[in-house]
Amino acid sequence: MKYASSLVLGGNLIEAVNGNHSQYKKLYLLCPHCKDPVFFQDRSLRQTQNKLVVVEEHFKHFPSSNSKDDCENRSRSINQEKINKQDSRERKQRLKILQNNFWFLFLNNASCLDGREKDSITPKKMEDLIEGILKNQGAFLPLGPFQGNHEEAEAFFNKVWKYDFNTYISSKEGKEDMLFMLQNYVLTPEADCCRTNMKLRKEQTNFGLYCLILKEIIDFLYVESSRGLLRKCLFFGFAKELTRNYFQDFVRDVREYGAAPIMQRSFFATLMDINWVQLFKAGKQNKYKGKSLRHSNQGMLRACTFR
Ligand SMILES: [Zn+2]
Repeated sequence: MKYASSLVLGGNLIEAVNGNHSQYKKLYLLCPHCKDPVFFQDRSLRQTQNKLVVVEEHFKHFPSSNSKDDCENRSRSINQEKINKQDSRERKQRLKILQNNFWFLFLNNASCLDGREKDSITPKKMEDLIEGILKNQGAFLPLGPFQGNHEEAEAFFNKVWKYDFNTYISSKEGKEDMLFMLQNYVLTPEADCCRTNMKLRKEQTNFGLYCLILKEIIDFLYVESSRGLLRKCLFFGFAKELTRNYFQDFVRDVREYGAAPIMQRSFFATLMDINWVQLFKAGKQNKYKGKSLRHSNQGMLRACTFR
């Protein structure tokens, strides 16, 4: 196929022209139809029945892809304009779902809130906890990490609270941190545990589309109108660590790197653990166009949680 959409460029179409493999690799290219990863194939000569034929530069699915033949056929009959139109329609649909339902979908599918783990609390309790912290500007901190010292615990919370979240959220830094995590935990994971997780994810879902949606969520959270929501997301990161057994590590990291980046990292870990592809598919089938999911079938949404 002649075109591929680039994840790094927010899904924009790229034409296969004379270039080198490593350049294309950096753009993280997806098939415009099925959103599976594709790779660049340089111009080549092919021999067919005593004739040499030039095969132009193009993009190819990996041999393991299920939708390979389907997409190759489709891309012959479809042009760039049609792909763009279809893409932007799909993107708009997803943005609408995010605008109306992001917080609900996120809380109800957060793996740390599904009751499977000993220290798990419910989505409702989590929401109350976050709202409580934001309203009263205080939280009950376990004293363990502070050697039982109340004053130290209080000083720690003040440090979290006095962190200039507004600066972090509105400057480039916050978004860049998110994109860094997308790159290093999801797209090209470096740590072994991330690599194993992503291998599993590739088996269970359309990985390209999953990455594309994560990128769209980051873009959505970092627009001005989402600022209040993003703040809640950061405090989700704080509240999550507060209710878990490894609060001690969190305290250490906050002291070293500052509150917001560490809270955001904790939030992102939960965000990337959700199978957004499944959720969006379920939303589409349910035709909840723009309606709040608060009144829809929660059981169905639960069942879609990524394992
Ligand atoms: Zn495809």
